[in-house]
Amino acid sequence: MENQSVKIHPQKDKIIIIMGATGTGKSRLSIDLATRFFPSEIINSDKIQLYRGLDITTNKIPFQDRLGVPHHLLGEFDSELGELTPLEYRSIASSTIDEILSRNKTPVIAGGSNSLIHALVSDRYDPDSDVFDEDDIEPLLLSANKLRYDCCFLWVDVALPVLYEYLLRRVDDMFDAGMLDELSEWFESETELGSLGERVGIKKAIGLPEFEEYFRGVGGNDSNDTMDTQIKMDLAIEAIKFNTCQLAKRQIGKIQRLRSAGWDLRRLNATEAFRAVLLSDSGMSSEAWEKKVVEPSVKIVKRFLEE
Ligand code: ATP
Repeated sequence: MENQSVKIHPQKDKIIIIMGATGTGKSRLSIDLATRFFPSEIINSDKIQLYRGLDITTNKIPFQDRLGVPHHLLGEFDSELGELTPLEYRSIASSTIDEILSRNKTPVIAGGSNSLIHALVSDRYDPDSDVFDEDDIEPLLLSANKLRYDCCFLWVDVALPVLYEYLLRRVDDMFDAGMLDELSEWFESETELGSLGERVGIKKAIGLPEFEEYFRGVGGNDSNDTMDTQIKMDLAIEAIKFNTCQLAKRQIGKIQRLRSAGWDLRRLNATEAFRAVLLSDSGMSSEAWEKKVVEPSVKIVKRFLEE
């Protein structure tokens, strides 16, 4: 008779990974799942949100929206001390996963940096190979199906034209929420005003390079300067909007690449929920979000955890 206590093939640890382009509601879904469904803790996988500071500009989930769910690797690092490599992220995030599992909770990884997610879950990670190299699919194919965790991948997807429209509005909302003051303070605190120096860590955040020119020129008194200032501000905002949309498009490209290489990504179509937001003045439409994103996610995760 087989000895039931001997694990011949030890099971891999189960983790949930919420993927998606910037703005698609990954943080919201992670909280929806954590608060209503299973005890879990969230690990950030947005490479800019790893660093302290610029909370509005980098779109960190506000403390009050976390609803008591513990978050890890969110604003924990000082980018003055250097940039975390994907290899370092792999090591730190996997220790965090172990700690969460030891508390009998489920780790939920949420964030838009696909290179960090790839580094974290790949069985053998080679820091020297670029799995997102458009001209060479081989490194990705070699690593794609060998994962060191039992992963449930949820991909929150929004049709690009709808997402673009939403992102343009989100930039305006970020300004209403105080992004300009935040950037102003940030530039003031830099020793060389207006110079970003070496672009590492948080200095890569969309918003800083775009506003560099504006903050360099602010302070003039005559009307021409005022005109200049307004033009510079408008240009900076337009650049942020453009670069945010470009980022979203690139991120979706990377997600599709991972999927076509064999990652079993479960796509949740949030387009209807986002259309409803654009038609209303209030926040996310709860009904479409619940029906199209939360309910199917709950089913997928439940089945995954019970397997
Ligand atoms: P890459 O291969 O380009 O490094 P990635 O998947 O590792 O891709 P992304 O998350 O796509 O990383 O980030 C790429 C760039 O997008 C960042 O360097 C930064 O300029 C910008 N970015 C990403 N997340 C944020 C954020 N939260 N706030 C501001 N800018 C961001």
